Amino acid sequence: MAVQDSNLAELTRSEAELRINELRTELEKLNRAYYDQDQPLVEDLVYDRLRVELRQLEAAWPEFKDQDSPSERVGGTADSRFKKVRHRVPMLSLDDVFDLAEVESFVNSVLALDSEATFIVEEKIDGLSLALRYTEGKLELAHTRGDGRQFGEDVTANARELSQLPLELKAKPEYLELRGEVYFPLDRFVQLNEQREALGEDLFKNPRNAAAGTLRQLNPELVKARGLAIFIFNIQDSRGLSLENHAEALTYIAKAGFSASPNWLEAKSLAEVMAAIEAINQRRYQLNYAIDGAVVKVNSFALRAQLGTTAKAPRWAVAYKYPPEIKETRLLEIRTQVGRTGRITPMAIFEAVDLAGTTVQRATLNNRDFIEALDLRVGDSIRVTKSGEIIPTVLSVNLEKRPAGAEKFTWPEQCPVCAGEVAMQGADLFCLNPACPAKNARAMEYFASSGAMDIAGLGPATVEVLLKDYKLTSIADLYTLKDRREELIEDGLIGREKRVDNLLAAIEESKQQSFARLLTALGIPGIGQETASLLISKLPSLEKITAATVEELEAIPGLGPVLAGNVYEYFHQADKQELLAKLRDLGLKLEAEESPSIEAENLPLAGKTVVITGSFEAYNRRELKELLTRAGAKVSSQVSGKTDFLLLGENPGSKAERARELNVEALSLEKLESILEGSKAE
Ligand code: NAD
Repeated sequence: MAVQDSNLAELTRSEAELRINELRTELEKLNRAYYDQDQPLVEDLVYDRLRVELRQLEAAWPEFKDQDSPSERVGGTADSRFKKVRHRVPMLSLDDVFDLAEVESFVNSVLALDSEATFIVEEKIDGLSLALRYTEGKLELAHTRGDGRQFGEDVTANARELSQLPLELKAKPEYLELRGEVYFPLDRFVQLNEQREALGEDLFKNPRNAAAGTLRQLNPELVKARGLAIFIFNIQDSRGLSLENHAEALTYIAKAGFSASPNWLEAKSLAEVMAAIEAINQRRYQLNYAIDGAVVKVNSFALRAQLGTTAKAPRWAVAYKYPPEIKETRLLEIRTQVGRTGRITPMAIFEAVDLAGTTVQRATLNNRDFIEALDLRVGDSIRVTKSGEIIPTVLSVNLEKRPAGAEKFTWPEQCPVCAGEVAMQGADLFCLNPACPAKNARAMEYFASSGAMDIAGLGPATVEVLLKDYKLTSIADLYTLKDRREELIEDGLIGREKRVDNLLAAIEESKQQSFARLLTALGIPGIGQETASLLISKLPSLEKITAATVEELEAIPGLGPVLAGNVYEYFHQADKQELLAKLRDLGLKLEAEESPSIEAENLPLAGKTVVITGSFEAYNRRELKELLTRAGAKVSSQVSGKTDFLLLGENPGSKAERARELNVEALSLEKLESILEGSKAE
C-alpha cells in the first residue's frame, strides 16, 4: 500500500524508502509537465509540499540520498525542438525556504563567516530563466536553463522580440553573460486569457506558464505580439568590467539599458534582511508582474566565491517563498455558463473572500474531471487561492466540515439557456443547438469587447436586451439599430435618451476600427488580436484572405494547420460571406489601411518609444496612449535603454527615477501638446 503523508518520526526504514521513491517518481512526472511541456499538473504549493517532504526524508535517511534525486538537480531538460546550447556558466536553481527561521539561519551562517557581509534582497519574479551572451555589446545568443548544468535551448530569435531587451549596448564590454527572468506582464496576461476564453480556447493556468509557453515556441512574432518582457538579475560572467559586488552589478545592468531586477534593497543586518522581505511582501499585489518570493543574496563576489555552490543551487543565496494566500469559504452554488462555442463551463460561486489584493467569489471549475477529482458538493467548505496570484482557483474541500446530505454535482441534461440537446465531448459538456441564444449573446459581447471593436456601453446586460427584446440576429444588425432610435428611447429598456445616444454613437464610431480588430471581433476559433495581425500582415484584405488556399494560410508564421483550417472554413461558409458583405455595405473596414510607411515617417513622434508615468488631469491613460500612438510613438510600460521620452504627470512613480538614471528625456504634457500642435501647423 502506498504510504501517504508520511509522518517522519513514525516511518520504518522500508516505509521511508518506499515513500522516497514514490515522491521521486511523482516529482519527476510533475517536473516534466512543468518544465518540458509548460503544462503544470498541480498548483505550485502542492509541488512544493512534496518537495519539502522529500527533502526532509532524505535528510532523515541519508543512506537513501542519490545525486539523481529531483531534490539534487535542476528540474528540466533541453527540448529537441530547439538547437542545444552548452552552458558556459551553469544556470542553477535556488534553495527555496518556506520559513523565515531558515532565512535567519542562512544569514547568520554567512555573518559567522564574515561579520561585515551585506545582502541584496530582490523580488523573485515568477517567470522563466534566460541567459544572454553579448559580445562587443551585441546580443549574440539567448538560451533557456534546460537541465541547468549541461544544455539549454537556443531561443535567440524569440529573445530578440522581448520588450525592454537592448540588442546592442551603448557601452561595449568585450564579453557579457547575463541572466534574467522572462515574465508575462499581468495586464497582458489578463487580456490574453479573456480573449482565449471568448474564443473558447483553453486558458493559461498562470502568467509563468504563459511566459514559458510563449518563449518556448518557434515563433518570435508571438513573443512580440504578447508583450513578453525580461528583468535581468545577474551578471554571470564578463570581460572588460571590474565589479566587486552585486549592488554594483545591478547598477551597471540598469545603466547599460536593461530592466534590472526591480525594487532591490541592500540589507546590512539580519533585521534589515527581514524588513526587506516584508517590504517586498507588502507591495507584491501592486506590481504588474507576478512574484512568488524574495531572494536574499550575498552582496560581495569574493564572499560568494568562498561560499561556492551545490550541484543544484548557490550557497550564497536563498529564496524565501511567501506563503500562498489560501482562504476557506463556503461553496454556495455551482453555476453553469454557456460559452460562444457552446461549451458549458461549471463555475463555483462562493462566499466572498479577500485574496491577493481583490475580493473574489467565483472560480471556474473547468470540467467534469476537475469537479470529480475534488469531489465538490454545494455547501462544502472549500479552500481557495489565486493561481499565479491572479486566477481564482479551488484547491480542495475540507471534508471534516461537509454538511450532512451534501450531494454530488449533476450535469444539466439539457442546455441551461435554450434547453437544447447537450453532449459530453471528452470531459466537457457542449450545447449542440447552433442557434442557442447564449452563443449569439457571447459572440456579440465578444464583438463589442475592448480588445475587439471596443463598443462602450454594449456589455452583457445590453446585449441580452438587444437579442431578446429587439430580436437582433447578427452583429450586422447593430449597425442598423440607429434607425430605431425613437423606439429605443421610448421603451427605456436600455436607459434614458443620453445612454441610447451614447450607445448608438459608439456603435457608429466602431466602423472606423481597423480590419485587424474586425477580424479579431468575428471570433474565428483561435484567431485573437495577435493572430489576426499576423494574418493581415500577409493577406491585407477580405478578398486576399478568401482567395488564399489552406496551404498559403498555413505558411503564415504563427498560424499553423489548425488555425489555417479554421480561417479557411470560416471564410468559405455562405452565411459568413453574407455577413461580411453586409458589414462592408455598412461601411466597416475589410481591408488594412494602405502601407503606412511613408506617412508614418512624417508623424511627429515616428519611431520614438514613450513611457507614461504619473497622473494627468486632462486625459486618462487610454486617451494618452491613443494620442501618442496617433503621433507615431510606440507606448511602452517600462523604462529601458530603448525609451526615448518619459511623459511625466503628477506624482510620478519609480519610472521617473529610472528614466533619470538612463538619461531619458522627460516630457511634460504641455511640451507634448506643443509638439503635436507644431506638427499640425506645419
Ligand atoms: P525556483 O523558481 O524556485 O527558483 C529559481 C529560479 O528563480 C531561477 O531559475 C531564476 O530564474 C528565478 N528568479 C526569479 N527572480 C530571481 C531573482 N531576482 N534572482 C535570482 N533568481 C530569480 O526554482 P526552479 O527550480 O526553477 O523551480 C522550482 C519551483 O517551480 C518550485 O518551487 C515550484 O513552485 C515550481 N514548480 C512547480 C511545478 C508544478 O507542477 N506546479 C513543477 C516544477 C516546479
